[in-house]
Amino acid sequence: MLINPEKIRPSFELDLYNDLLNNASFKKASEGHLNKISLDHSHENTLAFLTNGIRINHKNSPSLYDAFCEVKKKLKINSSNIDLYIENNPSINAGLAFIKKSRYVIYLNSGLVNLLDLEEIKFVIGHELGHLKYQHHKIIKNPGKCLPIFTIRLFEHSRYAEISADRCGLIAVESLEVAKSTLLKIATGTNLDYICKESIGMKVQLNAIKDILNSNQGLIDEKLSHPYSLIRIYALEKFNNFISKKDNGINEIDNKILSLLSALNPKMNHKKNEIIIYACFWVSYSDVKNLKIEKENIEGICDPVMLNKVLSSSSKVKNKVKYFKDGFLKRIKDKSALSLSDKSDILDKVCSIAMADGELQKAEEKAIKEIALKIDLTKSYVDSVIKKFK
Ligand SMILES: [Zn+2]
Repeated sequence: MLINPEKIRPSFELDLYNDLLNNASFKKASEGHLNKISLDHSHENTLAFLTNGIRINHKNSPSLYDAFCEVKKKLKINSSNIDLYIENNPSINAGLAFIKKSRYVIYLNSGLVNLLDLEEIKFVIGHELGHLKYQHHKIIKNPGKCLPIFTIRLFEHSRYAEISADRCGLIAVESLEVAKSTLLKIATGTNLDYICKESIGMKVQLNAIKDILNSNQGLIDEKLSHPYSLIRIYALEKFNNFISKKDNGINEIDNKILSLLSALNPKMNHKKNEIIIYACFWVSYSDVKNLKIEKENIEGICDPVMLNKVLSSSSKVKNKVKYFKDGFLKRIKDKSALSLSDKSDILDKVCSIAMADGELQKAEEKAIKEIALKIDLTKSYVDSVIKKFK
């Protein structure tokens, strides 16, 4: 099975990864955070691994070390800057840790090592190396002060990244059976003595999960970092059909997987998010002073995915004010989609963008008032909000 890991990364994961890192403020926060780990914590972290387990080498564990080298080769990872550790920790887990620039650790918890056989451990190593291959550690989960909508996107990415990494695990072991038994052991915490791998009733259970989450949105955990194991098994089965040529079209397969993963995503008001972006840019471009500061601020208050979409659609447009104004007007035609709190949120956001550079220009104030009028906010309310920002 000669597969290039670069070619099988699901586009839904790669797109979201790029959307997040295209956001200049997030990228800066991520680089700052990784730098800080490099400078302040690399020794501390290495010491913690060395003292709470052991570093694997070809003498102390030839089987694990050979497995590690074999998987690296399969995934075309040449770097010798990755160490493999066993960590004394009963929870069934493993991970990739960033130590400093170009220095990484893969750790396998004792709970995991005691449960899995060597082939299954290879799957896990492949999975963790997949995270490294795709540089997932750059999507940090704690970029400091950040909007709820941004946090939602970060964890959405985390779940998608598991699907990408699992594919590298599958390439490492070249066996769907092994991949499935690994995920089932992790899911159940058992060695599968009492479980029939072929008849786990996945479809029924997946549908039950979907039904429950659809009918009770409150049960959706927006900070869920991993998709449920059954979803991961489903995604691997679909992907395996593709590589064993039982199924054409990776895009079709990825769409099916995405549709299942979407059940885990909190519902967002895309329409409102889009309207906010058009309104903010309308206000911002109506006075060209300090555009850069205002753009940075727009990045700080908008959905990064929607923002990238709008920015790329407008990149070649000459008359930006007209473009964003028309776009805004088109999108608010159906005003019934906006509640009163949506409307006041839009007004708050455009005011904060206009004031990002410390002053409210005449043209900006005019645009804000036009926006408020179009979404039926009363003049006295608008005046009071503008006054608050001035
Ligand atoms: Zn993972």
